[in-house]
Amino acid sequence: MSTNQNATAAQNSPPYFHVLAKPTGAVCNLDCKYCFFLSKEMLYPGSRFRMADELLETYIRQTIEAQRSSEITIAWQGGEPTLMGLDFFRRSIELEQKYARPGQTIQNTLQTNGTKLDDEWCEFFREHKFLIGLSLDGTREMNDAYRVDKSGAGTFDRVVSAARLMQKHNVDFNVLTTVHAANADHPLELYRFLRDELGTKFIQFIPIVERTTPELINIANKGWGEKLKDRPLYVQAGNQVTDRSVKSEQWGRFLIAIFDEWVRRDVGTVYVQMFDAALASWVGAPAAMCIFSETCGTAVSLEHNGDVYSCDHYVEPGYLLGNILQTPLVQLVGLEKQVKFGDDKRDTLPRYCRECEVRFACHGECPKNRFIQTPDGEPGLNYLCAGYKAFFKHIDHPMKMMAELLRRGHFADEAMAILEGERAVWKARTGRNNSCPCGSGRKFKKCHGEMCSKTDPARPVTSSATSVDTENRP
Ligand code: SF4
Ligand code: SF4
Repeated sequence: MSTNQNATAAQNSPPYFHVLAKPTGAVCNLDCKYCFFLSKEMLYPGSRFRMADELLETYIRQTIEAQRSSEITIAWQGGEPTLMGLDFFRRSIELEQKYARPGQTIQNTLQTNGTKLDDEWCEFFREHKFLIGLSLDGTREMNDAYRVDKSGAGTFDRVVSAARLMQKHNVDFNVLTTVHAANADHPLELYRFLRDELGTKFIQFIPIVERTTPELINIANKGWGEKLKDRPLYVQAGNQVTDRSVKSEQWGRFLIAIFDEWVRRDVGTVYVQMFDAALASWVGAPAAMCIFSETCGTAVSLEHNGDVYSCDHYVEPGYLLGNILQTPLVQLVGLEKQVKFGDDKRDTLPRYCRECEVRFACHGECPKNRFIQTPDGEPGLNYLCAGYKAFFKHIDHPMKMMAELLRRGHFADEAMAILEGERAVWKARTGRNNSCPCGSGRKFKKCHGEMCSKTDPARPVTSSATSVDTENRP
């Protein structure tokens, strides 16, 4: 790049951007069947897949220097980042302390499968206030369907032990649950397991959509681990999905079932990232998750060798921006190519989305999932559209209520008692086959009538607030 191009790129860079760093690249000690990221090892044949000390220092220095915000996040992901060993992260903390400017605070986040954690790791996380994301897909049966180790054995016991260890050491963690063919039909069993048995209060749900082509579908259905013969490199192409992927309507039903439980009893006590993000949209605050923002492109992915890609979901040759050992991060993030990548999220929306009544909350979700056609044949509709549309329409009434409460300086959780009273009135006045009074257009028995029959009076309404100014947790 010329000096002028460098200067333009640096000026174009957003005031704050997020970097997901992968110190071991795609290398992991597990072999989760849906993890297409395992195939990204193929991008670096012969590599040792370990971030070198020189690169670690360059990354930490450039990240801290580039951010115009006083709060900086250093985010570790994989593969499995704990395979680097604890000394790598001790060194990372040393470097953060070396380069942090006065007034800057640095939050470290780390996404892990938990299988390597012990007391020493947890003490370190606690001491340095790491926010940990723990991957667990629900009960033993749900988790072990796909989350297996290299020998094919389930990982449930090891992950639950990691959660218990972190609870013992007061490590701040949330659970990341992917939603797929083996758990999507059991939303309440899953949610109640996480909330009541595991005892977690921070939950993230991510839909598994493994995209592929008709030519590769049979191989893709076998998984993405290195033992699989002829495994392809996963790229965002094709309009078919693997058998493990969640179906669109199933995703909508999953979210609706959990939302109905949450809005009856858990607002303010259980944080579900998707629901907080939706509340931000109803309040009119900036989107709390990139998938629901109008544009994106401010969350790049850093490989173990310094290569930077447009996004964690686009680690493939066409989306390589450059390498931070040659070009500073701030310039890579500001490249015209990257700005266009982010703007395309808005600029390529099909008309069906542009005219959609819940566009303000959905914005066509992530471009990686936009591979089906609209009802009138336009390409570029999100595979999960039907599910999101059903979900966002279903939550409109309680979301409006919570947004209004917040605008008036009240707490969102006050909505639980109001909705409870409202449901009692609706139940007394509305026939099962009549339209639901919430305005969804569905029959009462298929909408809020279902909630009326599931009321659980055992748990008291709490008074703590749900903040709409939420962090996009790992
Ligand atoms: S491509 Fe998807 S995941 Fe990546 S930044 Fe954009 S919305 Fe987020
Ligand atoms: S719900 Fe469907 S039509 Fe509406 S914005 Fe989202 S993807 Fe587009």
